[in-house]
Amino acid sequence: MKFSTKLLLCTMMLMAAVLGLSGFYFVNYVFESSLEREIQQALDESSILRFAFETAALNVPVKYDVLPDGSVFQIASNMETGSQGAGRLLRITDEDGNVLYASEGFEADGRLLGQTEEGRKTYRVIETGKDFFIHTSSTVNALDRLLYLETLKDVSEVFRERGLGFSVYRQLTILMLLLGTVIMHFISSWLTRPVRLLTRATKRMAAGDYSYRARKVSRDELGALTGDFNRMAAALEENIERLEEEIQAREDFVGAFAHELKTPLTSIIGYADMLRSRKLDEEKSFLSANYIYTEGKRLEAMSIRLLDIIVTRRGKAELAAVPVKALFGYLKDMFAVREDMEYQFTYEEGTVQAEAGLIETVLVNLLDNACKASEPGSRIEVEGRKTEEGYRFTVRDYGIGIPEKEQARITQAFYMVDKSRSRSRNGAGLGLALCTEILALHASRLEIESAPGEGSRIGFLLPEAAE
Ligand code: ADP
Repeated sequence: MKFSTKLLLCTMMLMAAVLGLSGFYFVNYVFESSLEREIQQALDESSILRFAFETAALNVPVKYDVLPDGSVFQIASNMETGSQGAGRLLRITDEDGNVLYASEGFEADGRLLGQTEEGRKTYRVIETGKDFFIHTSSTVNALDRLLYLETLKDVSEVFRERGLGFSVYRQLTILMLLLGTVIMHFISSWLTRPVRLLTRATKRMAAGDYSYRARKVSRDELGALTGDFNRMAAALEENIERLEEEIQAREDFVGAFAHELKTPLTSIIGYADMLRSRKLDEEKSFLSANYIYTEGKRLEAMSIRLLDIIVTRRGKAELAAVPVKALFGYLKDMFAVREDMEYQFTYEEGTVQAEAGLIETVLVNLLDNACKASEPGSRIEVEGRKTEEGYRFTVRDYGIGIPEKEQARITQAFYMVDKSRSRSRNGAGLGLALCTEILALHASRLEIESAPGEGSRIGFLLPEAAE
């Protein structure tokens, strides 16, 4: 069952109970007070009648010691006629229970007489057929006779009014319930709107629409829930996008890897096939074997690089304070002896927070790339400088440069701007990918500035270590 329907049902049940009970209490309260008033009136009338009877008895001629039955009848009959139109009925009974006078239609039994003590009034409410009466009884002392005076007061109207009150209230309750149902239907659907919107959003998201957000329509707890849900959805969307990008990157990586394997393997298989199927002269045999060897070496270098990337990606740098001088000393030892380029090393003394071996790998790769991009004998400048953000290393060359649109992609694994040029120089597009992984472990990244024909400036920042 829908939450709004439950809310509606509960409210209506509560409303029906409250209306029913309060209606019953109200109508009954009015009835009881009316009946109370009627009883009081009946008792007052009974007192007046008693007094009137006793006064009338005193006026009976003195020749009688005892009030004769005929006089009783006469007095009672006069009293009844005198009160015509008041709806009053009388009955006079003597001590022995003989009825001396009874109005027409006086239908009460004599039970009340037994409970009537001298000087006291009693009453009860009786029902005869469809009518209701207040039956009172009191004693009358008339000329040495103790008589019983009973009256009947018709109170059917009060009972009828109670019935009418109940029926009017019942109709009113039904009307109010119907009206309440309509109003509550709108209220409950307004109250549960945020829940409906949230459900819709959940369904849309479950169907794959992660950008869908639930509309916030209230400022209460449900509004806060909608806000939290949307925040969760945003985080989820971000994670899914990241995962999708990661999956895409991995697929690209595997695709590029397979492609990079295929080219040298095709050549290796081709030359190997030639060697085993034909008798080649010595020079051709050497060239074929040499080709197989160099391509094999390239594959070996590639697999080592790949392993390096994977290990670096999973690893953690062992950071320590490394003097910049030591890093430059290592580079100088490795490159300055080579006479293929004009190397220039300049640096400010300092200490960086890094893992020396990893940063040396980065610098060697950048220098290697600079060499590969430049004509033999060109100048390559390696610089180390303190800046406000940290210690900056830069490798500058005056080689072919990198087109702007390629700059963002050269750090991707297997990406090469000019594939044949890179391959001919033993490249596989993995050097900068490895540099990126290493720098990520140092919370840093490659900064590339380059223009085709003018050369490149590739650098990175490292935090300085306290000396
Ligand atoms: P590779 O093994 O091919 O050198 P890298 O990941 O180190 O792979 O570099 C990716 C590509 O970026 C290279 O193939 C090259 O085209 C380009 N590149 C890198 N450094 C430079 C540079 N200093 N000047 C021009 N192109 C560069």
